[in-house]
Amino acid sequence: MNIIFLGPPGAGKGTQAQRICDALNIPQISTGDILRRAIKEQTPTGLKAKSFIDADKLVPDEVVIDIVKERLAQDDCQNGYILDGFPRTVPQAEALATFANMDAVVELDVADEVLVNRLSGRRVCLTCGATYHVNMLNGETKCKCGKDLIQRDDDKPETVLSRLTVYHNQTAPLVEYYEGKGLLHKIDGAQGVEEIYNSILSTLEAIR
Ligand code: AMP
Repeated sequence: MNIIFLGPPGAGKGTQAQRICDALNIPQISTGDILRRAIKEQTPTGLKAKSFIDADKLVPDEVVIDIVKERLAQDDCQNGYILDGFPRTVPQAEALATFANMDAVVELDVADEVLVNRLSGRRVCLTCGATYHVNMLNGETKCKCGKDLIQRDDDKPETVLSRLTVYHNQTAPLVEYYEGKGLLHKIDGAQGVEEIYNSILSTLEAIR
């Protein structure tokens, strides 16, 4: 099955995509991860993408379209995959349709207030990778491993709001685009992680 995961930043797309990929035994293709790796390795694509990512802007369509086209041609994608973070614009979706057929688009639907609260309340430990929400910390500033908890730069409220604006302006039109093609499956992303996972899995099983 070829599946697209759609949803705003903070909706839990990455986490759910990973779990569903494990369950269906297909690869997760995250353009964000591919771009971050390219930046780290200072490849030509990474050099092109860096300034856009640093400014919370979308990387130009032609750059990401080439990345995805190349990735989907690899052997491990021949039995299906989940696209996580692509397409992000209608031109990307139109380009995708010229070289791949999608079976389903899963939209994680979460209200902006919930996302801002989730992301701006998130605290992480850079030493062991644990994640917390301030509501659960009761003023505690240390991780269970004893190290300091910090707020990631891209979880700061002003950054969260600008990423949400990009989503509404450039990516949300894809909901209508895929609805028109009869591929859209909306999932309530305000539920707990387990409930979301079960809803996605049963939706996909019903159309398999
Ligand atoms: P993500 O981890 O999916 O939030 O992606 C991190 C950043 O990579 C985004 O804020 C964009 O700058 C860039 N990016 C990832 N996927 C795409 C895409 N499909 N189109 C354009 N830019 C992208």
